[in-house]
Amino acid sequence: MPRSDLDVNSPGNCGCTALIWACSLGKWAIVDALLSRKETIVDARCPNHGHNALVAAAHRMKFEMVHQLLSHPRGHEMDPNAFAACGCNLLVCASRSGDEDTVHNILPFIDYRNYPNTQDCKFGRTALQWASHFGHDSLIQLFLSEPSFSVNHRDIRGNTALMLAASSGHYNIVQKLLASPNLTNVHRDCNSNGDTALSLAEWYGHTDVARLLESALLEQAAAPSTPDCAAQSAFFVTPFVPYFWISTFFAILSILFFSLTYFALRIDVLAFRVYG
Ligand SMILES: [Zn+2]
Ligand SMILES: [Zn+2]
Repeated sequence: MPRSDLDVNSPGNCGCTALIWACSLGKWAIVDALLSRKETIVDARCPNHGHNALVAAAHRMKFEMVHQLLSHPRGHEMDPNAFAACGCNLLVCASRSGDEDTVHNILPFIDYRNYPNTQDCKFGRTALQWASHFGHDSLIQLFLSEPSFSVNHRDIRGNTALMLAASSGHYNIVQKLLASPNLTNVHRDCNSNGDTALSLAEWYGHTDVARLLESALLEQAAAPSTPDCAAQSAFFVTPFVPYFWISTFFAILSILFFSLTYFALRIDVLAFRVYG
């Protein structure tokens, strides 16, 4: 129990209070003691990190702490919709945890429909993208039923939800995403490596997912058969490669020939000067 003469709200170097620190470190005994003091500012924010205690705990993946805070009698004093300065919030932190139940547990406390496409600060992925990556069926169903959730968002590597689901081999998720009327450019979309959802499924050996994506391609008669990234990778996969190497070979040969001729002439001239 903190001493009564101590200021429980005094900030540290960055501005985080004792409550924020204790929450982010998962120290429930300290948090409980601090919450028992009526002068403790429960929703204190760090001016540098931007977070309150709830988001600070979530950002460090301390979801047991998050749950304890939300079920505490003073939990309602904490804003569950707060954002950290990095842009993360409770929804995206919970989605990143990889635990479906963790996300379901926080959903009743937050207004997720108001900020559906928040991205985490490390991978730039939304809640829908994390659910696609981890194969969280029930979450995908829920998010796809909300028109405000974007199915076409890209992470920092250019991956869409479909690419993440395809590379992880989540057949059901791929199926649900393909059925979404808002999904665009299924086969034209490439990530920053030039990969499509189909090429990723093939690369990781998810043949069932690859077959599903191929059949979706056939159904989309209007969709072009070659992806946009074909332009980038065409050089490496088309007959341009032999032409390139043949031209390079002849260019080097010509340079060698002219250099040799030049030096031969120089030697000739020198020899003429010396012996002539
Ligand atoms: Zn801080
Ligand atoms: Zn963050």
